[in-house]
Amino acid sequence: MATPDRVGTGTRPLRLPVGCGAVGLTVVDHPLSQHLLTALRDRSTPPPVFRTLTKRLALALVLEAARTLPSTEVEVETPLERTTGRTLTGELVAVPILRAGLGMLEAVTELFPEVAVGYVGLERDEASLLPQSYYRKLPPVAGRHVLVLDPMLATGGSGAAACAAIREGGPASIRFVCVVAAPEGLSRMEAEHPDVDIYAASLDRQLNDRGYILPGLGDFGDRLFGTT
Ligand code: URA
Repeated sequence: MATPDRVGTGTRPLRLPVGCGAVGLTVVDHPLSQHLLTALRDRSTPPPVFRTLTKRLALALVLEAARTLPSTEVEVETPLERTTGRTLTGELVAVPILRAGLGMLEAVTELFPEVAVGYVGLERDEASLLPQSYYRKLPPVAGRHVLVLDPMLATGGSGAAACAAIREGGPASIRFVCVVAAPEGLSRMEAEHPDVDIYAASLDRQLNDRGYILPGLGDFGDRLFGTT
């Protein structure tokens, strides 16, 4: 599942080895991604704008996550001559983690209209910070490539639980796409899912004692849906 190339070149996003290097983190440091992320971090960005920016940033992140999807060479007739091109092979499944992951889903369905979509509902118990499962509806994932969508990889509890649920179905690969990752979440993913590649716009500093990412951007779901 993980790709062997762990270090970016000038034209490719930075791939950072985490811990022992088993987990691949790609920080999508394109100037547009960083511009969108900065606007999302801004506390004065209202929910309607926040939703639009989330979708735009998700497009950039998902595009990068798709870089390693399998494709094959095909022949094609242009209006002028025959040439070769590439076509994506393999089937894709997107799994947003409810509820904040919903903000990233439209980016995937626009880029990949044939994608099957499953949902995992996990919420954090604010006292224990542990994920509680309240909903799971997954399409068949056997042999398919799965994109897990969750904007904030904080403790890693929800991400690891979602990947474990998906793994039961025997996917060909799992990629985890988030807006911001915390070192604590990466360590958890590395320990439990070393073969899952992670794509983020930023690796932030740390969690606070309530499990929020610092500097972060606050509660993503609340900012997305205006529930503060
Ligand atoms: N979930 C959020 O929405 N924000 C954080 O900072 C951490 C988890």
